[in-house]
Amino acid sequence: MYNIAIDGPAGAGKSTIARMAAEKLGFIYVDTGAMYRAMALYFIRNGISSSDEEAIEAACKDINISIEYQDGEQVVLLGSENVNAFIRTEEVSMMTSDISKYAAVREKLLDVQRNLARTKDVIMDGRDIGTCVLPDAGTKIYLTASASERARRRYKELEAKGVPCDLEKTKQDIILRDEQDMNREISPLRQAEDAVLLDSSDLSIEEAVSAVIDIYNKKRG
Ligand code: C5P
Repeated sequence: MYNIAIDGPAGAGKSTIARMAAEKLGFIYVDTGAMYRAMALYFIRNGISSSDEEAIEAACKDINISIEYQDGEQVVLLGSENVNAFIRTEEVSMMTSDISKYAAVREKLLDVQRNLARTKDVIMDGRDIGTCVLPDAGTKIYLTASASERARRRYKELEAKGVPCDLEKTKQDIILRDEQDMNREISPLRQAEDAVLLDSSDLSIEEAVSAVIDIYNKKRG
């Protein structure tokens, strides 16, 4: 199986770009952020605070996260419920970053992610795919963009969905989330030594997708 790992900060365009590249290459796209988001949703719904590590660890035993593909779209299941519609709010984003630092949360999802990559050609995106989940991935990309550009994209995405938002607040949330993700002890966000850096600040989506495919073609030879 061939694995492509794409890591990078929030709002760099990872999911859009990885999904389109996967479609062109005939790979399965795996959005690991969505799995962490589904766990955060469970904690929010059950009134478990992000600072209560014991309660989070205990709850991890009861949570069952899996993914399915419906019409080529990744669907995240919390138990048997499709939670795709509930995991994209700013509240869930922040809770996700708060709880993804815990070992119990990360261990829970590591097996699910590795099993998918073992059985299928995947493009997997997240924060620790190249460094921790798939250290042997054939192609590793660190996709980034300037904080203002990332905030502008996220703002437009939220606006298009009709979610009330504020550009400056969106930027602050992104910066805070990145700081937390980069400075946690377990599996922090960082560029793997053998990852290719791709800055998408001045690229259109199509140009970024082509750049990903070029990097893959060069690596695969
Ligand atoms: O990629 P996305 O913005 O959906 O990720 C949401 C959050 O999930 C990130 O801010 C990060 O805290 C966490 N995450 C992680 N490791 C991954 C993917 C996401 O810690 N591989």
